[in-house]
Amino acid sequence: MPVHPDALVPPALREAILAWFAAHGRPLAFRATDDPYAVLVSELMAQQTQAERAAEAWVAWIARWPTVGDLAAAPVSDVLRAWAGLGYNRRALALHRAAQAIVSQHGGQVPGDIPALERLPGVGPYTARAVAAIAFGRPVGAVDTNVRRVLGRIAGAGGVGIMSGFALGSMQSLADAVVPEDAAATWTHALMDVGATICTPRSPRCGDCPAVLWCRFAAGERGEPSVLPKQRPRSAPFPSTRRWLRGRVLDRARSAQDASWCAYPDAIGSHEPAAVREAVLALAREGLLEARETPDGLEARLPG
Ligand code: SF4
Repeated sequence: MPVHPDALVPPALREAILAWFAAHGRPLAFRATDDPYAVLVSELMAQQTQAERAAEAWVAWIARWPTVGDLAAAPVSDVLRAWAGLGYNRRALALHRAAQAIVSQHGGQVPGDIPALERLPGVGPYTARAVAAIAFGRPVGAVDTNVRRVLGRIAGAGGVGIMSGFALGSMQSLADAVVPEDAAATWTHALMDVGATICTPRSPRCGDCPAVLWCRFAAGERGEPSVLPKQRPRSAPFPSTRRWLRGRVLDRARSAQDASWCAYPDAIGSHEPAAVREAVLALAREGLLEARETPDGLEARLPG
């Protein structure tokens, strides 16, 4: 027989997390708004970037493009320049395309239902639910790595380790079932902060955690370190990686004035010219650069 969600994440635990968040939540700038466009921007920015850095960039972004129509009308080169420092530049392109889709298909209003949100470029199940909960107050659980870890540890039934046998589908069901009806946005922020600041992957500070009284992981059903989920590091990529090279190639195009073309004839760091060329071509295929062959070699610039 399925366990009732209240038995895994009781109402008193939810209240404790909300009270903790009221006292200790991170005062990130984008939490002051429920404007759907501004929330969408913040969620895409914070996906793979440290929240504090994303919040700084978000303030400048919203000042420059305060509405979805403003962003949709901006040249993609400006959008890519404004994304500098946030990494994973495909997100910038996706956000720009999402803004254009919202204008052309939704009359300039960010849709509030999850299937329509998920059809927007760059918006997956997590982002769709985060926007639905934060901007529209819908009681849906936004399950990213942090939330999956926190809820998995809290609910970890059966002593089978911290992931506790929850398949993605059942974790989504649990996350949906425990959202407080009247506090979906605050709950979403609060679970994020518990995961980011207390229930960290390798060193959860259970003694400081509002969930400790109810948490099965804290009660001793701890998985061995080998079952801890591997976190992808969020630090800057190493100079030997393809991601690092892509960032440098784009940085050169960003720094060019007036859409002038940049040449890439030389090695960049430890990457040989052939690898640089391949990176330029890959970025062009993805729409992050325009590239052209000239008698002097390959050149590229930000898209117009
Ligand atoms: S009590 Fe410990 S394991 Fe449980 S949610 Fe809090 S920090 Fe994570």
